[in-house]
Amino acid sequence: MNKPPLGERAVAALIRYESAAAELTRIKKAIVTTLEKCPITIEAYKTFDDKSPLWDNSRVNHHLHQALTATVSDYCSERRLDQEEITDQLTGWDDESEGACPHCLAAWGLILARKDARQEFGNAKRLVRAIGKLAIKASQP
Ligand SMILES: [Zn+2]
Repeated sequence: MNKPPLGERAVAALIRYESAAAELTRIKKAIVTTLEKCPITIEAYKTFDDKSPLWDNSRVNHHLHQALTATVSDYCSERRLDQEEITDQLTGWDDESEGACPHCLAAWGLILARKDARQEFGNAKRLVRAIGKLAIKASQP
């Protein structure tokens, strides 16, 4: 079976690239708006006092930030929480339920989705470049 003409493949690649870029932008914006719904973020924005426990230097110390910066003792060393432990903490499935927050959990889900979206964006970009190289080759006598 023959491949479709280069022009058709180029348009399909551009559609894929633009769709992936738009999806990545959508996820990035959704992460910000979702974290703005966290009660800690709402309180932190009222104070703007970076000495407050609501802030970790210039970053809001919301439940997601706490989960991402938390450490646990693993034998004789300290380590960060893994993906599953972060999910458990934000869901409240760990021992203490103080870390639970539906907004931070939703933001965490978006962060995980952003990984896939970044990968698709990278694949789409490589495809556009590959077709660009083919087009250059095809245009040369
Ligand atoms: Zn939260």
